[in-house]
Amino acid sequence: MSHKARNMVRSLLMSVAFAPLLLASGASAQGLTEQQQFARGIYQELVEINTTTATGDTQKAAEAMGARLRAAGFPEGDVHVFSPAPHKGNLVARLHGSGARKPILLVAHIDVVPANREDWSVDPFKLTEQDGYFYGRGSSDDKYMASAFITNLIRYKKEGYKPDRDIIVALETDEEILDANGLGMQWLIKNHRDLIDAEFALNEGGGVGLKNGKAIRNSVQTSEKVSIGYQLTVKDRGGHSSLPRKDNAIYRLAEGLVRLSNYDFPMNLNETTRIYFTKTAEVDKSHADDIKAILAQQPDPAALARLSENPGYNAQLRTTCVATMLEGGHAINALPQLATAKVNCRILPGEPVEGVQATIERVLADKQIEVTPTGKAVLSPPSPLNEEIMGSVEKLSKEFWPNAEIVPVMSTGATDGSYLRNAGIPTYGHSGLGADVDDNRNHGKDERVLVKSFYEGEEYLYRLVKMLAGGK
Ligand SMILES: [Zn+2]
Repeated sequence: MSHKARNMVRSLLMSVAFAPLLLASGASAQGLTEQQQFARGIYQELVEINTTTATGDTQKAAEAMGARLRAAGFPEGDVHVFSPAPHKGNLVARLHGSGARKPILLVAHIDVVPANREDWSVDPFKLTEQDGYFYGRGSSDDKYMASAFITNLIRYKKEGYKPDRDIIVALETDEEILDANGLGMQWLIKNHRDLIDAEFALNEGGGVGLKNGKAIRNSVQTSEKVSIGYQLTVKDRGGHSSLPRKDNAIYRLAEGLVRLSNYDFPMNLNETTRIYFTKTAEVDKSHADDIKAILAQQPDPAALARLSENPGYNAQLRTTCVATMLEGGHAINALPQLATAKVNCRILPGEPVEGVQATIERVLADKQIEVTPTGKAVLSPPSPLNEEIMGSVEKLSKEFWPNAEIVPVMSTGATDGSYLRNAGIPTYGHSGLGADVDDNRNHGKDERVLVKSFYEGEEYLYRLVKMLAGGK
């Protein structure tokens, strides 16, 4: 070993030896309040329980949060941990109000998508604080909200806060697979509707958008598109490839798909998307003229065509259907006997699902292409832009982020909010969590949350829920 190398090793060892010291002094320098330390502890506990939907343990996470609530003085009867299957857990807890008004439901899922240690820069199931961020799987989606709701519920309890209505927290499993086995939100609605029944719910789905560290918008998700798949099937008698005919299952299917690709469903704005576009026109200067032109009494078709080239705007404007899978034939030297394609549609809330299949059939314009739905659509009526909720959001958001526009949004993907909306509980996706608009790592590697945004968002939710729950 050369002298130089030895020196390098020594300095490396020194830095390792000093690292914990530096970290410790760094942590105290941040000057967390007692409340913030408590919040961080609950967040850390939740992130460090591996709750990957298929292989993790949401029961453990639900029990851990249940234990926190009981330790804070919540009686047994107000903290329920349900385990509808091994390693699957849902928690429902209640802070009693005067009962003057119907309860509020605060919802967060505790399962997370998979994370591989080798893909990540840090251990995804350890909460790592680094460079002003909290890293960890679920740090944003959705353990920030889950821990914030638990932390704040305990805070209300400690203060002796008596709201005008009960505040219910529901932590649920299996959201990341849209509750495919009926063990999460659907299970709660089916088996314990009485425990979660509320006037409305707050859920994930809308946050604070940051650009260069400044808050530019604060979203409220009020509706979501309905996802449904269709299979297109063409059958043929087949034959030897040495004797081809013009009539061929693959060609028929391909030609039909080309017609479908050229088709656009009609533009159809709802209450939410109309406001969304109105507000967007104020910030997106390059599209402002086109947006104004489609909002006019007589929407301009040329402006609509230009706007539709942007996939994000297009998805807000209309129902969409797109080919996603393709299969056909059985041998290189045989005429295909079967050709199939799968098409995924995202239907605007409120548009009839049957109408979409009829439109696909009309556009394919070929009786030999059979269209069959591959599943059942979960309808999801949009939640009304309730004045009480939107008014409270406007007022409080101004205090936290004076320059952020309040923007109602429609998700183009379905969330578990659809089950609640379906069950007649209007649901609003609103987290108060700030994140850079160009740095969305949910479901990706090195998922993270700004430390500052974490504490800020938690405080925002604490105050917002109080505004909505009233009392003192
Ligand atoms: Zn989520």
